[in-house]
Amino acid sequence: MLRPKGNREPLPSPAKHLGQHFLTDDRIAARIVEAIPAELLDRLPAIEIGPGRMILTRHLARRSPRLILVEKDERLIPLIEESLREFGDRIEIRRADALHESLVVSGSPYILLSNLPYNISVPLLIKIIGADPPPLQAVLMFQKEVADRITAPPGGKEYGSLSVAARLLSNPVHLFDIRPGSFSPPPKVHSTVLSFTPAATRLDPAINGAIYLARAAFSYRRKTLKNALEQGLSPEIMAKVLRLLDHEPDRARSRPETLSPGDWLDLSRRLREHNPEIFANIKE
Ligand code: SAH
Repeated sequence: MLRPKGNREPLPSPAKHLGQHFLTDDRIAARIVEAIPAELLDRLPAIEIGPGRMILTRHLARRSPRLILVEKDERLIPLIEESLREFGDRIEIRRADALHESLVVSGSPYILLSNLPYNISVPLLIKIIGADPPPLQAVLMFQKEVADRITAPPGGKEYGSLSVAARLLSNPVHLFDIRPGSFSPPPKVHSTVLSFTPAATRLDPAINGAIYLARAAFSYRRKTLKNALEQGLSPEIMAKVLRLLDHEPDRARSRPETLSPGDWLDLSRRLREHNPEIFANIKE
């Protein structure tokens, strides 16, 4: 257990709105941390989002030369400070919302780990793998259904703009699944741990356009590519897309899910070739 019984206040009860499902199986915690190779774990600063009751944190604290913890629940902060005091100023504890906090270490490569709060796991993932610079490796836990969408290959119903964005920014790799019983309180769903390393395509100037096009089209995924984009894009951008697709009737008639992440990038590249400013004003 985290601390001796009897002589201190009880742990604050888990807050649902903060996605608090605390991992209780320490062997799984060790497996998550050890998904990062020793030479990175022992040498690079690490960031952990949502340390919670610190089951991952304790493994990290023993090894990281510097550890930054970002935790939103202020009730947990005194507990975290007290429990990690022995590690001294190698550990920095920030009470902050990870969605609004800088999640990079400047001046050094770094790694990032988190059993992510499930209600905000997708925006946090995009923030992490889209960061400048991104972590050399991130090991993150998701609810299984979201992890399946992140790693989905083209063609199936799980494949969508999240799969495209994740693949173009990083190299998502499935590590293992975890049963609800390994958490307290147990979530309703299974969980999955994925590992991410930066992808070469993340630096392509066409990447934002590719993700933008995929998001627009997958909002209407049952339509053909041409009709889906027509629904999802502004008339100005669509006029330029049409000029391109008019030469590719087969592609125009295909479904959005048949385009691989590389195909979306290619479409964006070709649009930018003729219209360098086309995606200049899109919002992420
Ligand atoms: N790492 C712990 C806790 C996981 S539960 C474990 O594996 O058991 C998710 C954690 O993220 C909780 O500690 C929760 O308080 C924290 N959290 C939720 N929303 C957050 C946010 N927006 N920013 C930072 N931490 C957040």
